[in-house]
Amino acid sequence: MYCENCGAEISKEAYICPKCGVKVKKEENNDEDKPNVGLNILSLFFPIVGLILYFTWKNQTPIRAKSVLTYCLIGWGIGIFFNIIVATIG
Ligand SMILES: [Zn+2]
Repeated sequence: MYCENCGAEISKEAYICPKCGVKVKKEENNDEDKPNVGLNILSLFFPIVGLILYFTWKNQTPIRAKSVLTYCLIGWGIGIFFNIIVATIG
């Protein structure tokens, strides 16, 4: 990768450009933007949590947001499914 300030080639792990000393814009966001398994499962059991997380994350980390929304919808679907069964049997 290259420094955005002076164009010097710098190591991926570098936080500061060794040439001009400017803080390197880390691609940290991309690393963070991946599905979070724990919160996906949480969304499965508490779809409302997934929905809130989705709206919180959708701009910053769209991949993670979409993943949590998927589990939220699955959880929601399962909930409705069980409600129908209970309503039918009960
Ligand atoms: Zn630089």
